[in-house]
Amino acid sequence: MSDTFKAILVSRDAEKKQSVEVVDLTEADLMEGDVTVAVEATTVNYKDGLAITGKAPVVRRWPLVPGIDFAGTVIDSSHADWRKGDKVILNGWGVGETHYGAYAGRARVKGDWLVPLPDGMSPHDAMAVGTAGYTAMLAVMALERHGIVPDRGPVVVTGAAGGVGSVAISILSTLGYHVIASTGRNAESPYLIDLGAAEVISRDELSQPAKPLAKERWAGGVDSVGTHTLANVLSMTTYGGAIAACGLAGGMDLPSSVAPFILRGVSLLGIDSVMAPKPVRLEAWRRIGKDLDLNKLSTLSRSIGFDGIVGAARDIVDGKIRGRVVVDM
Ligand code: NDP
Repeated sequence: MSDTFKAILVSRDAEKKQSVEVVDLTEADLMEGDVTVAVEATTVNYKDGLAITGKAPVVRRWPLVPGIDFAGTVIDSSHADWRKGDKVILNGWGVGETHYGAYAGRARVKGDWLVPLPDGMSPHDAMAVGTAGYTAMLAVMALERHGIVPDRGPVVVTGAAGGVGSVAISILSTLGYHVIASTGRNAESPYLIDLGAAEVISRDELSQPAKPLAKERWAGGVDSVGTHTLANVLSMTTYGGAIAACGLAGGMDLPSSVAPFILRGVSLLGIDSVMAPKPVRLEAWRRIGKDLDLNKLSTLSRSIGFDGIVGAARDIVDGKIRGRVVVDM
């Protein structure tokens, strides 16, 4: 097919200086794969912000179409599981990092990477959840596996007004947890309470160097921030509690001690969405369909068009985006 479609392309010159441009591609320009999808909705995740701005080495193949997740309709398939007209979701597997990603009218990927769009969810809904929301669900599932149920006590969500944080609050509150939301944007308190937070605390309470142990405040947590924030969250976790670590919005280091682990039996649960096996993904999307109040998606997301992607990517690395940004292609 020779029809052209718009795509965002990030490139690098001989001096490794990165540039971003909008180009016209055809399907012949796409990378290898056994399923071609018409991209109907995508999103701007923190990782996409890093890829487009070049602030961290997310892109590992040049040039590249970024965009780590999309939802759309199969237009061509030689994969046994998928045929023309199927509605699908993709996130992770290196798409938007080493394989041409979502910021194009078409994407060609491996059929094994796709999951079906859950019943009752539109491509727009699925991307209002997106990688951030699916990661939040993985974190909640990890806490549950560790026995952190609502009766065990409050749970803390850091980076609360961001994408992972907003969806985590929505899911946890729907499940009956007492959610303590930590944010650097106090003006977002009404938004966080609307999503289901029972209490809102200032990011500053958790951003100073942590003591090995501090007053016990929560049984569990979902952390998007890392560094001193995660260290403080661990030091304030009650006996036998667990914290799911999924992000590094504040930094990649973890200036902590072993005290919470060896004196309070606290567990640190690692969350990776990119290479999560297919059965885990299917379960996470099933749970999203069941445990995320879809009405909250309109509260926690806003829509932009293709032309808004680069600006939103810059904003997200500057911590200026609230909730989720859906790109309607
Ligand atoms: P967002 O930018 O939407 O949210 C991050 C939030 O963290 C911000 O909204 C802000 O919340 C807070 N924050 C930002 N900068 C700082 C800082 N310097 N110090 C303290 N808090 C800060 O990103 P996402 O929600 O999409 O992603 C969150 C993190 O999770 C990212 O690091 C991302 O890379 C990671 N991630 C990991 C995945 C995995 O597979 N493990 C998958 C998806 C995301 P507030 O203003 O409320 O304080």
